[in-house]
Amino acid sequence: MLNIVIFGPPGAGKGTQAVKLVEKYKLVHLSTGDIFRANIKSGTELGKLAKSYMDKGDLVPDEVTIRMLESEVNKQSNAKGFIFDGFPRTTAQAQALDKFLEGKKLSITLTLALEVEVEELTRRIMLRGKDSGRADDQDESIVRNRVQEYNTKTAPLKDFYKKQGKLRSVDGSGNVDEIFKNLSKEVNKMIE
Ligand code: ADP
Repeated sequence: MLNIVIFGPPGAGKGTQAVKLVEKYKLVHLSTGDIFRANIKSGTELGKLAKSYMDKGDLVPDEVTIRMLESEVNKQSNAKGFIFDGFPRTTAQAQALDKFLEGKKLSITLTLALEVEVEELTRRIMLRGKDSGRADDQDESIVRNRVQEYNTKTAPLKDFYKKQGKLRSVDGSGNVDEIFKNLSKEVNKMIE
């Protein structure tokens, strides 16, 4: 099984690249942000809870996020592999994911980290906010808080995966196809 974590700050292009990787390598795409937004739309309890954090640009608590992710993985019995997009975002989530996969005799194959400058991130997110309708993409102070959450809670995961020898950093500042080519190169090295 090919299990990929796509990693990077908000606005780095994780979702865009994940969709392309899913198509190329026939993986199941699990985006925690998308799953939360679907729950908000359909008015579930989980959605209500998640919304109260997302609207402020805070991370949703680990316990709920981990439980949700695990249940989504368990729904996919025929998957050839997964791409985890927006998960893990904390050390506790990364540890829980390793343990959960281990229980299924699986593991993360590699973590692709998209590197983009902060100014470029804010510019992209505000641009996306204009037509995505995402409230958390439209307010500069919320965007700043998301970047802050990333810097304090998520960025340390680079070391976590580096220590496991799984981190592959890729420049995320060019055009979509160029970035995709570079990501694919890293994936191909693992499967050839
Ligand atoms: P982006 O990567 O642009 O921030 P996402 O759609 O991945 O967008 O995430 C949107 C929001 O959903 C986050 O700001 C956070 O509130 C919540 N969220 C998504 N994934 C997680 C996670 N793994 N842990 C906690 N909160 C999460």
